[in-house]
Amino acid sequence: MFSPMLRAPSVLLSTFAFITSFSAISAFSTDAHLPPLIKWQGQSEKLMTTSGALLTDFEKSLGKATPDYVNTMEYLDKLALSNNKQFSIKIIGKSAQGRDIKMLIASEKGTLSNNKPTVLFQAGIHSGEIDGKDATFMLLRDISEGKRDDILKRVNILFIPILNVDGHERSSQFNRINQRGPIEMGFRTNANNLNLNRDYTKLDTPGVKAIVSVVNKYNPDLYIDIHVTDGADYQYDITYGYMPVFASESPLISKVLDDKFKPLLDNKLAKSGHIPGPLVFVMNKRDFKQGLAGWVATPRYSNGWGDLRNLPTILVENHSLKPYKQRVLGTYVFIDGVIDALSKYESELSSAVKHEQTHLPKELAVQRGYSKQADLISFKGIKYETFHSELSNHKEVRYIGEKIQYDNLPIFWQKDVKATVKVPKAYYIPSQYSNIVSNLKLQGIEVTQVNGKFNSLKQGIVTDFEFDKMPFEGRMRVSASFDYSDLPQTQLTNWYKVETSQVLGKLAVHLLQPEAIDSFFKWGEFNTIFQRTEYVENYALVPFANEMLENNPALAKEFKQKLAIDNDFKNNEKARLNWLYQQTPFYDKSYLKYPILIEYK
Ligand SMILES: [Zn+2]
Repeated sequence: MFSPMLRAPSVLLSTFAFITSFSAISAFSTDAHLPPLIKWQGQSEKLMTTSGALLTDFEKSLGKATPDYVNTMEYLDKLALSNNKQFSIKIIGKSAQGRDIKMLIASEKGTLSNNKPTVLFQAGIHSGEIDGKDATFMLLRDISEGKRDDILKRVNILFIPILNVDGHERSSQFNRINQRGPIEMGFRTNANNLNLNRDYTKLDTPGVKAIVSVVNKYNPDLYIDIHVTDGADYQYDITYGYMPVFASESPLISKVLDDKFKPLLDNKLAKSGHIPGPLVFVMNKRDFKQGLAGWVATPRYSNGWGDLRNLPTILVENHSLKPYKQRVLGTYVFIDGVIDALSKYESELSSAVKHEQTHLPKELAVQRGYSKQADLISFKGIKYETFHSELSNHKEVRYIGEKIQYDNLPIFWQKDVKATVKVPKAYYIPSQYSNIVSNLKLQGIEVTQVNGKFNSLKQGIVTDFEFDKMPFEGRMRVSASFDYSDLPQTQLTNWYKVETSQVLGKLAVHLLQPEAIDSFFKWGEFNTIFQRTEYVENYALVPFANEMLENNPALAKEFKQKLAIDNDFKNNEKARLNWLYQQTPFYDKSYLKYPILIEYK
């Protein structure tokens, strides 16, 4: 609706044109178009302070604004200086536009070499959804000032205040039309217009590469990815979720989160005046009562990726229609609750992780659909009415700001498994795909080099394929069906081998099995196999084929039969010659063949 040109284009495009949030407070109301609010007050308001050397920019603005990159990093430095025995700052990556991506490490004695569990809080992967930055700053300030000296006795903290640092500086009042504050907020995607929360398997962005390295280096026990929703209006202010047990490839972890973490978190949020709720979407945005959509993250998302790594991962989605102050305070209570739960249930969680690390399933689900059968849940909704809009010439929804309790609201979970793959013993990658090998190694997957003769390898041959009509995340994605053929004994020279019986085996299968939804293949890493690059001239083919058929009566018979039963083939001279060309030894042996070989037990 709003034109992006309402702000000067030079501000949007310039790398170092920082806007200070507080000077930008304007009389323009960016939320008059949003549904009415229910007035909120809560115990958590007492968490805000009004003075002191470590007063946050969020508090200075009375909960309305968030600092830009420069001020954020200045505050991070100030925090580290204020408590240099416990806090330190690491540069974990550099953005495409050259900004440092920083992480604060907090531990009781300034070292992670202790037996405490470690939690990773990540803010601003979508930088307009920045609640986690300002909430965690307050919590760290309270640690530094001694108000919360209980925390580092129990856990170590890794905190990334802004992951998408370039998107964060594409700052505007007009970046998120469905969101109430902060006054100016960053943009969803990075400077290359890539969405970091679709990048966990292909690793195209410096931000997600940095996160993968952090997870491999520091091995956190729990990973919290903090967002803000879009979508329907409801009463909940803090919603969160993780891979549901039915869909999880590390179900014991999801069960600990369900049975232990969730009751504690919900209770703590409710006591502080917040309204915790489930992470859900709506099946039909124009007809809420049709029910909710219970989405299951694929591996391109933080929580789908975490599930395959046996890394307990919680996706927080604060409700976009709640004011910034309420959301940030709720986030403070949430992360405080996460720390309580992690310290209390550390042994349950770590034994679930250990179990999942050593239990490789026989098959993995690679495609899911919404179940036709709904589950029923109770849900704290907001009343709405519908009206005819002249603009859309269609029925539209208007939320009216009054509570409504749904006792039996249908929710359609993605419980239908539409495709599975058998987990093989190993994958073999030819040396020319060193980019694939680099990605696997960055993910932390063990790769070895092999030479020698191998038996019982299979190769996938594409029988049918379809490219998406538009690029997605800068890639031309492709889906294909395969026939697998047994290869004769094969000499492999300087190939790479990935065994599935390793801690990250489930992730390896999702990356290397071409039918998997976020595999390298589907992201277009092997699109060159769809090209035919040598040419055949008919004056050469016809005499060659004549001789070939004379010398091979069985093939001649097959050709004749094909002509007899398939009229289209018979009447298509190109198809006839192409078929014959395919039977010759001149035909490209790599065409439509998935280059990674697979070994089953
Ligand atoms: Zn988001």
